[in-house]
Amino acid sequence: MLFGPGGAGKGTIADRLVSEVPDLWLSRSWTTRQRRPDEPEDAYVFVDRQEFESAIDAGVFFESAEFLGNLYGTPVTVPPAGSDVLLEIDLQGAQQVRRLRPDAVLILLKPPSPAVQEERLRARGDAESHIVRRLEEGAEEERMGIEIADAVVVNHDVTQATAQVAGIVERYRSAAH
Ligand code: 5GP
Repeated sequence: MLFGPGGAGKGTIADRLVSEVPDLWLSRSWTTRQRRPDEPEDAYVFVDRQEFESAIDAGVFFESAEFLGNLYGTPVTVPPAGSDVLLEIDLQGAQQVRRLRPDAVLILLKPPSPAVQEERLRARGDAESHIVRRLEEGAEEERMGIEIADAVVVNHDVTQATAQVAGIVERYRSAAH
């Protein structure tokens, strides 16, 4: 499972991982956030708050969290046989997963520096108020993230960071067999 602050590059690395690592299945989350103009329609299951709350009551989610005023959740799903599930979530989600599935492998992805993180958030057109809050919360999230992470990867370069995460997945897989 990949977690870390916005602007760390989780989405890009998650997409690369599923295309490069065999038997890895990316879970699609639900959110009440508006779709960004450049975002694919299937980036999330986009729903309104009422639908999301009904889904919580109906037990649809494995974990859910509120992040900057929007709800996000990982649905309980069964991956194809023989596949591992890849989650790409925030710190609160990672904390819930740690409690619910102590055997999950939690990889904290860090941006190389706050300046690069800020650049990435701006480049994808996040609202200014969100950028400021994400950067402020970033340091505390990182401290708490390090406590629960099995591994920490710094995303200086997407290809290298993807290879590092793939190596960690490989190591845990061989240890489990
Ligand atoms: P964004 O709005 O930038 O797509 O995502 C905001 C944050 O929510 C990111 O840190 C992202 O990883 C996280 N996130 C996405 N899906 C989920 C989910 O299902 N559960 C939780 N807890 N966080 C999620």
